[in-house]
This record gives sequence, C-alpha cells and structure tokens, in this order.
Amino acid sequence: MNMTKSLFLALLIIGNRCFAADAASDKEPIVINPGPPPSDAVVLFNGKDLSQWRNDKNEAAQWKVLPDGSMEVNATGSIVTREEFADCQLHVEWATPSEVKGDSQGRGNSGVYLQGRYEIQVLDSYNNKTYFNGQAASFYNNAAPLVNASRKPGEWQTYDIIFHAPRQSADGKSILPGSFTVLHNGILVQDHIPVKGDASTAAKFSGVAPKGPLILQDHGNPVRYRNIWLRKL
Ligand code: MG
Repeated sequence: MNMTKSLFLALLIIGNRCFAADAASDKEPIVINPGPPPSDAVVLFNGKDLSQWRNDKNEAAQWKVLPDGSMEVNATGSIVTREEFADCQLHVEWATPSEVKGDSQGRGNSGVYLQGRYEIQVLDSYNNKTYFNGQAASFYNNAAPLVNASRKPGEWQTYDIIFHAPRQSADGKSILPGSFTVLHNGILVQDHIPVKGDASTAAKFSGVAPKGPLILQDHGNPVRYRNIWLRKL
C-alpha cells in the first residue's frame, strides 16, 4: 500500500469513528406539547395575576391586570421577574395605546430587558420616526431591526426572542459575545446580532452575569402585555 492509500484509509477510519461517536452521543429529542404555551416553558404571565413579578424595590408588582387577560403599564415602575434566567427563548405579546399621544420615543415606549440589561425596544413605530436603533424591535442603542414590521397602534404584536448571554472565556481573560435573534410579528428582524457584554451593549453594566431577571419597562406610556412565556435553553 502506498503512502497516499494508507493515509486515505487512516482518514476513513478516523472519520467513521467520529461519525459513530456523534451518533452515539445524540439523544432522542424529548416530546413536548407545543402549546401555546409549550409544555416545557415557564409561564411568566397567564392573564390572571402578577405573582411571578416584583417591582425594583422588591415589592409586589402593581401593574393593572385587565379583564381581557392583559396587564398594563401604570406609572408604578418597571416590573421584574422573581426568577432569573440565562439563555432562553422568550415569547411576549404587546400592544401600544390605540389613542396616539406623543411622538418619537414618547409614543408607546416600553421595553423587554433580558438579564435586566439588554433591551429589545417596545415602541409605537407605526408612522413614528425616531432614531433607527431605538425604534420597535431594535436592540436598543445597538442594532436597528432589519425591517419595520409594526402593526397599528392598539393592535397586538408579538416578539419571539432567542437570547444567548455573553460569557467569560475559559481563561477568564476575555468575554465571548452572546447573541439576539428576534422575530417581530413572525418576521426576522434581528439575525444573530452579537451581544458583546461590555458597556457598548448595556451602557450601565460591564462584565457578564450568569443569570438575570426579565424586566418590562415602565416608560410612562400605558403599553399592555399578555401571554409571556420563556423556555430555558
Ligand atoms: Mg424602551
């Protein structure tokens, strides 16, 4: 057997072993009920109460729960989940006020903060100009959405967010970026955008956190939310 042939054979054997090892480590996907909400999700708001939420003073959340199963921002401050999360898939439904008041950042402003620090902006961006990386579905102050998929004021809209947190490298010397992928009303608007984990991606924070709460922002506008669930990744 010449050198080329034996090298080829060796590679073939190694290749087969790798394949066998991969196949052996594959776990059968577990069966879930896709819902909604999916059976493996943490339901953070089911339309009845705010038991999963507190305010930033660690008291019970005070947003208004409405008869239609939604909750409404009411100038009592942002609300914070009692549980903390790392990587996740998050589903949120929201609606800005049907009566339009204000403009730019003053119209239907709220926000969904992952790990309490990285905001996916909630805003009435229907015929409402503002800076691009501050409009609805932007990664606030970091990345504009790919398109503006906003529905009209008062109409229910959805965010489906896949978040991977930035983390410390194994040697502790650098931060490995995380990512945001976001669908707004089913439309891809953030396509695996890096979350760098330094002051550039969350102005008030530096470094990374293993976990953090979900925060819904009270920006003084009566934005409503419903059907909030999260799957830990
Ligand atoms: Mg906001």
